[in-house]
Amino acid sequence: MSHHEVPFFRPSLQQQEVDEVVATMQSGWLTSGPHVSRFEKRFASAIGAETAIAVNSGTAALHLAVEAFGLKPGQGVLVPTMTFAATAEVVRYQGAIPILVDVDPVTLNMDLTDAERRLRDAKVPVVGLMPVHVGGVMMDLEAVRRFALKHKLWIVEDSAHAFPSRWRKSTKSRWQRRSNGSRSISCYSFYANKTITTGEGGMAATNNRRLARRMKLMSLHGLSHDAWNRYSSNGHWDYKIVAPGFKYNLTDIAAAIGVHQLSRAEQMRRERKRIADGYFKQLADVPQMELPVAERDRVHSWHLFAIRLNLNQLKINRNQFIDELKEHGVGCSVHWRPLHLHPYYQKSFGYRAADFPVATAEWKRLISLPIFPGMRDDEIAHVVDTVRQLCARHAR
Ligand SMILES: *Cc1c(COP(=O)(O)O)cnc(C)c1O
Repeated sequence: MSHHEVPFFRPSLQQQEVDEVVATMQSGWLTSGPHVSRFEKRFASAIGAETAIAVNSGTAALHLAVEAFGLKPGQGVLVPTMTFAATAEVVRYQGAIPILVDVDPVTLNMDLTDAERRLRDAKVPVVGLMPVHVGGVMMDLEAVRRFALKHKLWIVEDSAHAFPSRWRKSTKSRWQRRSNGSRSISCYSFYANKTITTGEGGMAATNNRRLARRMKLMSLHGLSHDAWNRYSSNGHWDYKIVAPGFKYNLTDIAAAIGVHQLSRAEQMRRERKRIADGYFKQLADVPQMELPVAERDRVHSWHLFAIRLNLNQLKINRNQFIDELKEHGVGCSVHWRPLHLHPYYQKSFGYRAADFPVATAEWKRLISLPIFPGMRDDEIAHVVDTVRQLCARHAR
């Protein structure tokens, strides 16, 4: 046993975030207000979107997005099986059907060739596509756009891992070169362990004014736009319900944290990249494992650093490997057990392991190592040493 304890993640919060939260509490304005507006404007500008709508989770953003596209019961949406619960569950919120798609063996992002096959075999009309940028490696957005245009689909990107990722180093705006940007919404998460955090929070971004208006409306009980003026000193007491909306608005307390996290986002990304570079250098020669890929023309957020064990070169399996990492004080995780291997999706839709050979094989050897801004050199060294030792000790 080591005296080191390296957590899987430790949020990076500074005095400026603390001061801003205290100032917000003392201002007397706790719920959606000036900090939320500021956070939305700055976030939209950071990703080059016309509009960004702040909400209280990434899941809420995804739900508002599919609702805004008018997703109806019985319609189908292409969702990669390698993702978090939220991506597919919002499709179910609308009574629609997640059509799971296998993933690319290198990036673990949705495989568009497999998507084409599932679309062709689908027994329901398929209306949308939900790419997930796993770990922060962006999908090829040109290929996604072409696919969506060809099949007349809308796009809801699950970008929970992809801030501040960019799919081309040279373009600031993610919509710049996409002619169907008007049929696209990108959703972000500010959950505690994401690349920037507000504790809980999310953002839905788009260049389409109509979709933006619908999401804004539905994020607060479906109250007519004027209702938002209730949240200002010159607001009016009257409002009109124009749709049965949700309660998804973000608080000013959370947005106060977000504004400062946003201003440090690139700095924090560089810190994560430095840790990734360290892992690359110090784990490259270990035959019992493989390192993740970093596409050369993308900017990687380095939200995750997932290694893959070469199980045929080890005497222990992934779960035992994780148990031993824990015993040595190294926190880690797995992203993810694919959706088609969860009881709900198996029982409801009859998905089987063999239907998704890539995801089924890859998830059994995945381990996400700690990577977070503020991770100390001795912590990085401890992770590297522990992984190397375990691989050597259990080598076949
Ligand atoms: C975190 C996450 C979400 C959900 O975000 P919340 O803010 O926790 O609701 C959705 N998709 C992916 C891929 C995530 O990692």
